[in-house]
Amino acid sequence: MTSESKPRTAVVTGASSGIGQSVAEELGRLGWRVAVGARRTDRLGDTAARVERAGGQAFTHPLDVTDPQSVETFMVAAEAVLGPVDVLVNNAGMSIPGPFHEISASDHLREVATNYLGALYVTRLAIASMLARHARGDLVFVSSDATRQPRPRMVTYGATKAALEHMARALAMELEGTGIRSTVVRVGPTFTEFGFSWDPEQVEELLGYWLRFGLQRHAGVMEPTSVARAVVVALTTPEGVHLDTVEVQPEAPAELRAAEPLPRPAEAS
Ligand code: NDP
Repeated sequence: MTSESKPRTAVVTGASSGIGQSVAEELGRLGWRVAVGARRTDRLGDTAARVERAGGQAFTHPLDVTDPQSVETFMVAAEAVLGPVDVLVNNAGMSIPGPFHEISASDHLREVATNYLGALYVTRLAIASMLARHARGDLVFVSSDATRQPRPRMVTYGATKAALEHMARALAMELEGTGIRSTVVRVGPTFTEFGFSWDPEQVEELLGYWLRFGLQRHAGVMEPTSVARAVVVALTTPEGVHLDTVEVQPEAPAELRAAEPLPRPAEAS
């Protein structure tokens, strides 16, 4: 049986908004059982309703990925209600932008704890559950293109995502032969609540600053469903194939080419 045809039990972290919410909904569309966690529990009801409208079964529970006890409580509750986990989507993440030396030690730590340690805590429990049952499984790590093009003033964010990708790749090797796949879904600009807490003036300044480094070259931005569909592709790839890394980027807006036409062949020679 391929992983496409059998309903699976999935955990999605950071599912109260944005990409995590969309991933949960798309997994619901596959008819899967989906456990969704985040700190803003008031928002998880909406995610659960989307999962169920799409045809899946949802379970909501508070989750703070920075707290190993919260992670353990979440996983035990999710498995008790939905059954053992087959799929984990490590999506919870955040960033605090600014000059490296001006960011407080506690804010740097919060970023590391959320983006790297959080995924570590959840992943170790998911792997243990899968291995104990000799079950096939999928681990997805939602990363950022900041791992490919380092992003000044988001130094720790990029470093946590690079560490996350390293974890994903090393685990893919450590788990070879077990049927557990580990996939990086590396994401470019996406319209979510990411950065909603940032000062709008700082955002304006950052966009200009990043251009100096060739970052954020155009205004293309994706809807979270586009990323969620890429996650689904990785998860529904049949047995025997492993998508190591899927990078999802917004297409450049058409106006860009209209504003700066490429040279015609005769001019180019
Ligand atoms: P959102 O801010 O919309 O979603 C972030 C999610 O993470 C929320 O559900 C939030 O829930 C959750 N979260 C944050 N901290 C914790 C925590 N301690 N415990 C549990 N959940 C937590 O942003 P996105 O949807 O954009 O972000 C999703 C992922 O995509 C992140 O890993 C981000 O780094 C990545 N990404 C996003 C890009 C973009 O352009 N948007 C680009 C590249 C990567 P709550 O606050 O309720 O706990």
